[in-house]
Order: sequence, then structure tokens, then C-alpha cells
Amino acid sequence: MRRASLALTALLVAALAAPAASQTEPSAADRALARDIFRELIEINTTDSLGNTPRAARAMARRLVAAGFPPADVHVLIGPDAKHGNLVARYRGTGTGGRPIVTLAHLDVVPARRADWSVDPFTFLERDGYFYGRGTTDDKVGDAILVADFIRLRRAAFRPTRDLILVLTGDEETNGSCVQWLVTKHRALVDGEFALNTDAGGGVLRDGRRVMFAVQASEKVYATYVLEATDKGGHSSLPRPADNPIYRLAPLLERLEQYRFPVTLNEVSRAFFERSAAIETGPLAGDMRGVLQDPPDSAAIARLSAVPFYNSKLRTTCVATMLEAGHAENALPQSARVTVNCRILPGEPAADVEATLQRLAGDDRIAIRTIYAPIPSPPSPLTRAIMGPIERLVAEQFPGVPIVPVMEAGATDGLFLRNVGIPTYGVSAVFEEQNDVRAHGRDERLRVSSFYEALEFWYRMMRTLAGSETPS
Ligand SMILES: [Zn+2]
Repeated sequence: MRRASLALTALLVAALAAPAASQTEPSAADRALARDIFRELIEINTTDSLGNTPRAARAMARRLVAAGFPPADVHVLIGPDAKHGNLVARYRGTGTGGRPIVTLAHLDVVPARRADWSVDPFTFLERDGYFYGRGTTDDKVGDAILVADFIRLRRAAFRPTRDLILVLTGDEETNGSCVQWLVTKHRALVDGEFALNTDAGGGVLRDGRRVMFAVQASEKVYATYVLEATDKGGHSSLPRPADNPIYRLAPLLERLEQYRFPVTLNEVSRAFFERSAAIETGPLAGDMRGVLQDPPDSAAIARLSAVPFYNSKLRTTCVATMLEAGHAENALPQSARVTVNCRILPGEPAADVEATLQRLAGDDRIAIRTIYAPIPSPPSPLTRAIMGPIERLVAEQFPGVPIVPVMEAGATDGLFLRNVGIPTYGVSAVFEEQNDVRAHGRDERLRVSSFYEALEFWYRMMRTLAGSETPS
């Protein structure tokens, strides 16, 4: 408490001394509002199995209506089933600035068990400069920032030149069925020229120093296959090695371990290596420049490929994640199957990846089956109309921090917006220590200062992109 009030005093003094600097910080009342919304959300346990996202959506709708948004513009949409709730709200603009901008976050969280944590994951806690609780980084921070900033903009009587649409979805962490349902059943409510996603991108800290501001403009495509060898089986006293499904599957596993998909760079990954090379030093920076050469430096590729993070940016990856075989210790196995999860580069045909797996199997008695079909997702173009204003805002609020476009290896709700033709940019603006990312893990926490900075960044970004200074 004491610490917080001291910080606040310092802030007020700074604000009086330098009026321009006060604009880089939300007011004490704005902070209190955002913090209270954040607290309310953390304390509604929205783990998918509990079905509480409708409650969270209603709570946020109440906040918006209480702040003066017309009830007709605030929709709690229950679907695709009764267990899932979504919130869609519209901040009406004059329409002179173009089609709406969609802003995106998700209400659900990954399960968290009290026994695994040192604190209660569903009790909001501020301690030693951090907010603790499940969802503090993924992604209740996004919900709280968007709802608080919509209210701040309204209180400031901001008149956007285009509509701002707030979309909070109910099952990003599990199926993404909510966002798919929204874009198919409620397209008019959630349609826009482009979307800004709180759930991707973000700021990177190294030992408290800001080193990059990531903008996620592309996602790898998620796909899962099962490869299975089968046989009629029999008594284990009479082995038939050539028919044994376990032995027949083994060479595939070995080849899969060795295989590297070809290196392919797109606009986003190229920009990622260019900008990252400027941040890094020494041999790593040299290797990043090496992969950008034409033709790429093969030794540089080999060294970067040894680092899983960089490897994932260079190529499609497929990895064995589950293995199952046999049915009794004294019986010849009747089947052996491996589950292979792939993260495919956008633009690479999934059929080619499947064909590669079949080739690695090297045995046409091994059947391949798709258990999670790939949904292609085009990279979102890094246009000046979007990147220009973001670069200006970053330079203002985080001077000297480079912007790095990224392609993430995961998958978010943004994937489904891109697929229906709404380019989507992940700009969480939340700075986190690179080596202390706790999303989905225990004792998830967020730096208090990162929360308020991102609150301010989104406020300014929405003002700028939906304001009169925006070209169109
Ligand atoms: Zn998330």
C-alpha cells in the first residue's frame, strides 16, 4: 500500500513538473478502474470446464452499459453452446474514417490448481510490483485493458471516425469455437477492416530492460496426424518381426527425428530476422543476417536451427507427441501408432506436409489419418497505414525500442479472423521478462507497471487508428 501511494505521489509530482509527461500515464482514477475490472475478471474462474465465460461476459457488459454505452450496442452472445459466452460491443464512429477496427481478447483461461500454486490462482493479488492470478498475462489483461480503455475513451468524449468493435471470446484456449461461431453467425457484428489482438505480440524485457516490441502478423498452421501400422497379431512365442507394427513404425520415428523441412522465409519472418539482427550482437546477429542472404548461408541456418525458437521461424516442424502400441505383454502387437503434431508455415500446402510424412513412413501399410485438420491462415500484410502509427506510438511511449514483426508458432483466435479476410495484428504491448513467461504455468503474474503501460498504449492506439489523423 505504502509503496503504491509513494509511486502515485511521484507520478503526480512528475505530472506537475512536466505536463507532456503526464500524457504518458493513465490518471489515478483510470488506473483504479482498470485494476478493478482486472480483479473482477481474475476472480471469475473461466476455466473451460466450469462454463463461466457467460458470467464474465455479462460482468463486462454491465461495466460498459454503466459507463454509458447504449445497451443496443453491447451484446452478450451465448454460443456456440450454453456453456460459452462472448461479449461484442461497438463504439460508434462517424464512419468517415473507414470500416470498423476490431479489438480482440479472450475471457477463458487454462486450468490452474490451487495445490500447484503458491497463491490462490483465482484471488487477485498485488505483491512486490506484480499482479498474480490465472489470466494475468493470458489473456484477462487484454479483456481488462480493452474494457477499461473503451470506458476511458467514452469518458473523454472521444469521437472516432470509424467504429471500434470490442470482441471478447469464450474458448480461445480450447477449441476456438466461439470466434468461429461469431464470424459465421454474427459476422455483421464482428466485421472490420482489420483486427488488433491483445493475445499475441508483446514487449520483451531482458533484466528489466525493454529490448523489443513484437507485432504478431502471422501464425503457423496447426495440424495433427496419426500414423498407424497394424497386423493380425498372435502369440508372442512365435514372433514375425517383418509384420510387427512396433518394428515397422520404428524407422519412421527415426526418420522423423532426423528430417528437417526446407527453410522458407515470408515477409514477416524476413522482417523478424532483419530487426532481430539489429538487436542481437556477435555470432547470433551474424547468423540472422546469414539466413537473409541470397542464397542463405547454410552454416548460419544450421546454427540457428539448433535453437528451437529460431528453428520454428525458419521452417515447418513436425514432432512425435504420443505413442501407443500393443495390447498385452505376451501378444504380438496388432497396432502401433504415433501422433505427430505439425506447425506448418503459412503458404505451405498442408498436403505437401502430409505427403512428406507418408514418404518418411516408407511403408504403404502405415496408414495416415488427420485428427486435427490444418486451417490455412495467410500472413497479415504489414501496411504503412497500420505499422506507421504503431511505430510512432512505440517511439513516443517506449523510445528506442525496435518493433519486430513476428510469426508465432502457436495459434490464437486471430487465425480465424485472418481466415475470413480480416487481417489481424497481435499487439499486446505488455512487456514481460523473456525468461519468466508464466502463461499457462504456475504463479502466473504480470508486472504492475507493464499493465498500466499497455493500458495507455491501447488507449492511444485506438485513438490514433480510429481518430481523425488516420488516413483512411
Ligand atoms: Zn491467450
